[in-house]
Amino acid sequence: MGIFAERMKLLGTESAFSVGDHIKQCEAKGAKVIKLNLGEPDFNSAPNINQAACENIRIGNSHYVDPQGILPLRESIARHVSKKHNVQVSPDQIVVTSGGKPSISYSMLSYVNAGDEVIFPSPGFPIYISWINFLGAVPVPVYLKETRGFRFDAAELGRLISPKTKLIILNSPANPTGAVLTREDLLSMASLIEKTGHPDVRVLSDEVYDGIVFDGERHESISAMPGMAKRCIVLNSFSKSFAMTGWRLGYAVLPNAKEATVFSRLNINTFSCAPPFIQMAGKAALENDINIEINAAMNRQFEERRNYIVEALNHIEGVQCIKPQGAFYTYPNITGICKRLRAFEAASEISRLRMNVVTPSALFQMFLLYRYGIATLDGNSFGKGGDDNQYYLRISIASKIEELKEGIHGIDLAASDVDGFQGFISAIKAGKQDV
Ligand code: PLP
Repeated sequence: MGIFAERMKLLGTESAFSVGDHIKQCEAKGAKVIKLNLGEPDFNSAPNINQAACENIRIGNSHYVDPQGILPLRESIARHVSKKHNVQVSPDQIVVTSGGKPSISYSMLSYVNAGDEVIFPSPGFPIYISWINFLGAVPVPVYLKETRGFRFDAAELGRLISPKTKLIILNSPANPTGAVLTREDLLSMASLIEKTGHPDVRVLSDEVYDGIVFDGERHESISAMPGMAKRCIVLNSFSKSFAMTGWRLGYAVLPNAKEATVFSRLNINTFSCAPPFIQMAGKAALENDINIEINAAMNRQFEERRNYIVEALNHIEGVQCIKPQGAFYTYPNITGICKRLRAFEAASEISRLRMNVVTPSALFQMFLLYRYGIATLDGNSFGKGGDDNQYYLRISIASKIEELKEGIHGIDLAASDVDGFQGFISAIKAGKQDV
């Protein structure tokens, strides 16, 4: 008998959180770390939103409330979604959750049996595969290709849909690539799902970055495409678009009221209800027009930083970086750096010694952190991509431009520091360096 249930071996994690331990180790030794690994806006929530929460606490709005979410917030969300996508969404289709994440587990728990197939983007948000494995479902990755700008390919999706497919997960704007699906992409996927998917197949559309889209483009939702409203669970949250990551407020839009009651039941069984004063802050976020300007100003900064960093990265020998259209990440291909530093040879040697797979990009990520004080994330921690033998880093632009400049400077130096890298590898092999 072991302490933990067998199933816990199947539950994954999010490297965005685990890299924190390495950062702490560096900082404990007195190093300054530029954190380009962060998955949250470097802006605080707006004063009008903060004030709404404080005022509601002051008046005693601090009790249990409707597990589905308070009606005023669900009404506000329904109006917001209906207007944005020119669709008809009613408050009884909406379930308020604690951040956006619960809708991932809820969708899997509600719709997917062990042995069912779940199609999902790779590279993609690691929590998808974590829950697929946890529930004994069959992971069916759609490998995203750099040559397609990391956009989901409808033809590829067509090849993967089978009689066992139960759930299809989309994410646009995407983590970690910043890719945004176009209306044409969504229309072809929608018609394909309608033609080939069983009526019980559901689509989980993860739209947490819907407010962060660049170049004057608009975020489009697959739920607004023909035939899709009856199949889609739209996952959204206030975390990214309203810089409210720590508030833990999100919502799901379900195909109908009946399916929404299943999500409510999962709320009841986990955290009962989202705190009412936080829900009132969410209502303020959606209803106070001043937030349109505040969010636009935040996006302008993200776009400026994206423009700077993509150009700067493409000036570094061994790097190519496509321009992300949304979210706040860049996803440069660093295969050239890995070759120059002989990271491929190092990775296979270390993988053999440790008997687990270590990628060239993971070694460069750690080298950058421990020797140059720049925290990023290895692309492989988001899953394999569609281009074999190509390696990537996720670099967040949720940092001030000065920090991005320091980061770029460090990456540039590290990219040609062959001796430094080989010394780092020797330290790993000698057991003197943690990775
Ligand atoms: N979906 C994606 C693609 C994300 O990147 C994240 C957070 O990083 C989430 C969902 C979870 O959002 P929240 O913090 O609101 O739970």
